[in-house]
Amino acid sequence: MKLLEYMGYELIEKIKNKDISVQELLESCFVRIEETEGSLHSFVNFSKEKALDKAKLLDKDLKNGKKIGGLYGLPLANKDLICVKDFPTTCCSKILKGYRPPYNAFVIERLIEDQGAIHIGNTNMDEFAMGTSTENSCYGPTYNPWDITRVPGGSSGGSAASIASGQAILALGSDTGGSIRCPASFCGKVGLKPTYGRVSRYGLVAFANSLDQIGTITKCVYDSALMLEIISGKDPLDSTSVDKKVEKYTKGLDKPINKKVIGVPKEFFGEGVNKEVENVVKKAITKLEGLGAKIISVSIPHLEYTVATYYLICMSEASSNLARYDGLRYGIMSKNLSGDVYDVFSRTRDENFGPEVRRRIFLGTYTLSAGYYDMFYIKALKVRTLIKNDFIEAFKNCDAIVSPTMPSTAFKIGEFINDPLQMYLADILTCPVNLAGIPAITIPCGFNSNNMPVGFQIIGDYFDEEGILNIAYQLEQELNIYRKIAPVTK
Ligand code: GLN
Repeated sequence: MKLLEYMGYELIEKIKNKDISVQELLESCFVRIEETEGSLHSFVNFSKEKALDKAKLLDKDLKNGKKIGGLYGLPLANKDLICVKDFPTTCCSKILKGYRPPYNAFVIERLIEDQGAIHIGNTNMDEFAMGTSTENSCYGPTYNPWDITRVPGGSSGGSAASIASGQAILALGSDTGGSIRCPASFCGKVGLKPTYGRVSRYGLVAFANSLDQIGTITKCVYDSALMLEIISGKDPLDSTSVDKKVEKYTKGLDKPINKKVIGVPKEFFGEGVNKEVENVVKKAITKLEGLGAKIISVSIPHLEYTVATYYLICMSEASSNLARYDGLRYGIMSKNLSGDVYDVFSRTRDENFGPEVRRRIFLGTYTLSAGYYDMFYIKALKVRTLIKNDFIEAFKNCDAIVSPTMPSTAFKIGEFINDPLQMYLADILTCPVNLAGIPAITIPCGFNSNNMPVGFQIIGDYFDEEGILNIAYQLEQELNIYRKIAPVTK
């Protein structure tokens, strides 16, 4: 077996037992990157030299019997909107070209500084995390490792592609309306979006603050549980992070699930969900039943309003958040300095934001303007409460809710790029989770007739990451397809 075929937790054991060195593992990732990056374009910047220096240092410390942190030098791919000190962090936008943050994000401190993971580079994404395909990046798209004519999903497409192809062992992403779960589903890997407030957003470049959450993309459920244990908890630098006990998520995975009640919302299997996807997901539900879980029907009656509600809220928040990019405080300024200061600001923004980001700023500014605020923004907030209440109601009768993660498998590059509405509709099964602020995980549950992976979503009640990880782990072991490495071919 090649090193890249092992799970993160297995590699930790190998390093601990001195079967392999940290440097060997890191180099094997860079060999894989060398082989596949030309076809995938998962990364936008590498930190190869620094990574190698750190690997050598960790190996030396290990030899001398020093503690090197619980992640034992596992190579980590970071989404290009989570700040790494002195390393270019651009949100895949021209406007942040050359920006190097003066500090580390909370999650980077925990994973890299405290627990010894090695940052190997930043991954490609839709500009400012706005998208579902990673085609909206100023660096060009990432390609799906299962079929390079298809999109990897978005917006954390580079992170998902790097894990699916074996370029990296652990990855970070962010999820505002599905940006971890969509690419993890399209690339056949595990994507976890924690409860809003479970993980500090300090050092995450904001897209829509009331929805954004940092999470993980990994090869298996165990690795996600391991990362979540490390990155969860209260951070005084993020006032929305919650001071709630962090469970030992890895310890809860083995529990039998025969006492669990699992809800299947009929609305999540409605119009627009591909038949093949539905069939593969339904088969996985029977597996859960086989493991002893009780399957019941539940309802999320306001599901049909979620896409409209989500887009109104995220665009409103984005238009306000992105006001800070004027070329003066961050990033590049227009070379044409004619006119007054406002002319220069608006020219800078016009030249350096991509079309999707501009569209959202326009629409968000519109919905927040006097006269339209009540009609759109306030109304969306009210519907958000209804959606949240739907989930609260449903969780009175079940421990978790399951559904397809995405209504389809990965589509072709270019297929929807000129049809933003179609692209937005693909978020229908993921964005309700962000509107409610609850946790969800996606795991691969099979393949369609084109051999593209199908994602299975498990949604939990507030702060019940332990519960959904447990169900995900049991199902993963039962299905036993998670070890497949994507071939990186057409
Ligand atoms: N596809 C969604 C959007 O474009 C989700 C983005 C995200 O979660 N960052 O807004």
